[in-house]
Amino acid sequence: MPKINDYVPIVGEDIIEELKIIGEKLKGKVVQHINSTSVGGGVAEILNRMIPLMNELGVDSRWDLIKGGEKFFQITKKFHNALHGMAVDITDEEFDVFLQVEDENIKTINFYGDIIFAHDPQTVALIKKKSDFGDSKKWIWRCHIDVSYPEPKVWNFIKQFVCQYNASVFSAPVFSQNLPIKQYLISPSIDPLSDKNKELPPEIINSVLDKHEIEKNKPVITQISRYDFLKDPVGVIEAFKLVRKHIDCQLILAGNTATDDPEHDKVLSKVKEKAANDPDIHILVIEPSNNDIEINALQRASDIIIQKSIREGFGLTVSEALWKKKPVIAGAVGGIPLQITHKYSGILTHTVEGTAYWIKQLLNSPEYARKLGENGHEHVKNNFLITRHLKDYILLFVYLYYNQDIIHL
Ligand code: UDP
Repeated sequence: MPKINDYVPIVGEDIIEELKIIGEKLKGKVVQHINSTSVGGGVAEILNRMIPLMNELGVDSRWDLIKGGEKFFQITKKFHNALHGMAVDITDEEFDVFLQVEDENIKTINFYGDIIFAHDPQTVALIKKKSDFGDSKKWIWRCHIDVSYPEPKVWNFIKQFVCQYNASVFSAPVFSQNLPIKQYLISPSIDPLSDKNKELPPEIINSVLDKHEIEKNKPVITQISRYDFLKDPVGVIEAFKLVRKHIDCQLILAGNTATDDPEHDKVLSKVKEKAANDPDIHILVIEPSNNDIEINALQRASDIIIQKSIREGFGLTVSEALWKKKPVIAGAVGGIPLQITHKYSGILTHTVEGTAYWIKQLLNSPEYARKLGENGHEHVKNNFLITRHLKDYILLFVYLYYNQDIIHL
């Protein structure tokens, strides 16, 4: 596991010194993160990297999970889709089941933190416990979803709980909501020193390609994503098929499953149906034990990375690809436009045809594609590395806990 000083060569000494100074201000306070999965998806990805570094900076950070059965996660996946603006029908019985499971978690979770940091709708009603502690704890609700146009019934249900927190955090300005509590805009981040993002020797990249029987002399187009309709893997296959009429190339779709996402199998079988055993379409489900190095290798081996999401909270996969200086073609949704300026640091698209057009353009213009990747790398370096994220969170904790600006401490 990297140490905080290992980031000096990437971001410079000043930034690391500053983190150490502000980390000191939280000595003796415990930050307790609570979410619904430790494996799969962006939230788990970030917490796994962030918690050890926070601890090294002196911010005692710990991580707990809520428990819920299959039915609970089916309901929370519906919430997830509805908050992303999809039309979803949720019955009163489902709202009741959600609340029952939240109540069971309230009984079993030990709320030991001075700051309770609840992530996403799955944990939102834990706030019912707040009144037991008076003002002694600060409660933050962190929303990782694009809630710019939420389905009103579900948002109103979630909102009644959000309003009771001391603060909320959203990933992008466009997601901010009309709320009576403070909203902080903090975008997610990637860790440049993680197995997912560190430099890899060519032998490792080649061995991963061999393992998955991917040809080395044909352009590779890749989308890395949970198998989720909102990531539009079927649309990626359609775009690929349009391109392949003109250019010989291969497609990799690589995904894992998050334990709180029940739709994986359904989406994966649709994807396989659409691919129809095409030998140039590699549909991979990466084993958790090898996941990070393999994803890293697949991203590095790619000529183009796609993230054709229909809705997206932030899209860590975009930052990961840009960090590796890859040209990225991505849906112009959610947090993706924060990461990509069209035709400067990547390409934003809205349709299957647009995606296919740009895949062809970039395969035919490698110099332009390289420039997009380089600009993207610079942008990620300046905005979406874990060091910036650590700073934003520590400042938020200090502000909330002491209810004053750090400069007055
Ligand atoms: N990911 C992974 N293995 C996979 C598919 C995805 O490790 O097979 C990772 C991906 O590299 C990224 C995270 O899961 O770090 C997904 O985060 P993102 O914000 O892109 O989407 P989310 O799944 O949170 O909607």
